[in-house]
Amino acid sequence: MTGSRTSALSIERLRHDGEAFMREISREYYEAHAGLKPNAELRQIYERHAAILGRDALEMVLEELRAAAPGSEGQRSARLLAEWLADSQSARELASLDERQIEWEASAVVRLADGREVPFERAAIEMANATDRRERLRIEGARARLVERELAPLRRERFEREREITELLGLAGDYNATFELLSGVPLGELRASCEAFLRDTEGMWRDVLPGFLRRRLGIKPDEATRADALALFRAREFDTAFPAADMERSISRQAREMGIDPLAAGRIRLDTGEREGKRARAFCAPVRVPDEVYLVLRPHGGQTDWNTFLHELGHALHFAYMRPDLAMEFRWLGDNSVTESYAMLFDHLMQNRGWLKRYTGLSSDDVGEFVRATAFEELHFLRRYTAKLIYETALYGGETAWESLPDVYVDRLTTATGFRYDRSDAFVDVDPRYYASRYLRAWQLQALLAETLTERYDADWWRNPRAGPWVCGTLFGEGQRELADELAHRVAGKPLSFAPLIRAVERALA
Ligand SMILES: [Zn+2]
Repeated sequence: MTGSRTSALSIERLRHDGEAFMREISREYYEAHAGLKPNAELRQIYERHAAILGRDALEMVLEELRAAAPGSEGQRSARLLAEWLADSQSARELASLDERQIEWEASAVVRLADGREVPFERAAIEMANATDRRERLRIEGARARLVERELAPLRRERFEREREITELLGLAGDYNATFELLSGVPLGELRASCEAFLRDTEGMWRDVLPGFLRRRLGIKPDEATRADALALFRAREFDTAFPAADMERSISRQAREMGIDPLAAGRIRLDTGEREGKRARAFCAPVRVPDEVYLVLRPHGGQTDWNTFLHELGHALHFAYMRPDLAMEFRWLGDNSVTESYAMLFDHLMQNRGWLKRYTGLSSDDVGEFVRATAFEELHFLRRYTAKLIYETALYGGETAWESLPDVYVDRLTTATGFRYDRSDAFVDVDPRYYASRYLRAWQLQALLAETLTERYDADWWRNPRAGPWVCGTLFGEGQRELADELAHRVAGKPLSFAPLIRAVERALA
C-alpha cells in the first residue's frame, strides 16, 4: 500500500487488530449472556478499534480484492475481509434502527378486545400454549394489528436503508449482485433449487399435513393459520425421554465413542453453573480460536434442550479443532453455512433411530413415532425456509415495489406451508443479509456429510471411533476457509442439493 492515508493500514495489521477486536466482542457477549456481567458494553470496543473498522480499511481491502488474481488465495482472503468490513459498516449505520426495534420489542404490549394485556415477547408462547383455538386466534389478531401499526414501518425503513447502504458501495449492480460477490453464495442458483424443492415435496407435504392437524389440533387444512402452526409444533409428549440430568453425560459419551474428546483437551470450557442473568438456552462463544471456546448451558431437559445442546456442541467442536495456523479470516469469518452444517450434523442425530435408542430414554416403541414427528417438523421448516429465501430475494432485489411485498410474502409462505400467513409480518419475518441462505446451504451440506459418513464409517458412524478423527481433521480443521459448495466437492465429490435431504425425510416418513 502506498499513499499517506492508508500507510498505517495493511492486510497484516487488519488481521492482527481484527482478531483482537473479534476476541473482545466475543468475550463481552459471553460474559453478558452467561450472567457474569449485567450487559454487553460494545460501544467502547468499537471505538477502540475504529481504525480498522472504518471506510479506509474497507477501501484498502476492496482494492486488494479487485487486484487479486481470480481463484487465488489472495482473492479468497480479500473477499472474506471485504464482506466482514462491509457488513460491519452497514451494521453501524443501522445500529440506531436496530436498537429502536429491540427497545420496542421489550416494551410493547398486545391489547386484546376484552381488555387483557399480553407482553409482545410472550405472545408466541401464549399462542402455542393456548388449547382453546379461539383464544389463540384472538391473540394473533391483536398481535398482527399492533405489528402492522408500529413494528412493520420501522423494519421496512431498516431494509430500505440497508439496501441503499449496500448499493452505495458501488461494487455491483444491486444488493443481490453485491451479496453474491462478497459472500460467494450463488443466490440465483439457490433460489431456483428452492423452487424445485417446493415442487418436489408438494405431494409429500399434502399427504402428511392433514393427519397431523387433525390428530394434534382437531382442525382441517383449509382453516390452519400460522398461529396454529405455533401450537402444532409445540409437542411435548416425549420430553420425559430427554431428562436434564442425563443430557451432558449421554452426549459427551457419544462424542467419545466416535473418537472425539468433547472438551477438546480443555480448549472447550463447559459453563454449567446456575447464575442470575444467565441465558436459558445453550450457546457457544469462541473467545480465542481454537484455544478458548465456551459452551454455556443451563440444562432444563426436554427435546428442544437436547437439540440446542447438540447444535451448540457442533459449533464449539468446530472452533476448538480449527488449525491454529490458519489466517484470522479463515478461523473467524467466512461462509457460515459451514459452521451451521456442523452444528446441524450434531442436532440431526435427534432424527437418527439408532442414536435415539442408544443415548436417550425413548423406548423402542416410541422411536418410530418420534422420528416421524421430527421428519414432519423438518419438512415444514424446510418448506418455510425455502419460501422465505424466495421472498427475501424479492425484498432485497428491488424489482417489486415495497407496497406490494406483503402480498408476495403472504402468497409465498402460505402456499409453501399450508398455514395462512399475515401481511403484517412481511418486514418482520426476515433474516437480514440472507442468513436463511446460510441455513439452507448448511441443511444441504449436513445431509451430504451424513451420507458421506455413512458410506465411510457405516450407519452408526456416530459411535465409530475412526469417524471422529476424520471429522476433526478433514472438516473442522479447515475452519471456514472454503465455501460450503467447495467443501461438498472436496469431501463428497458432489454439489450441494436438496436431494439427500428429501431422501432422509422420505425415509423417516415412510
Ligand atoms: Zn447455529
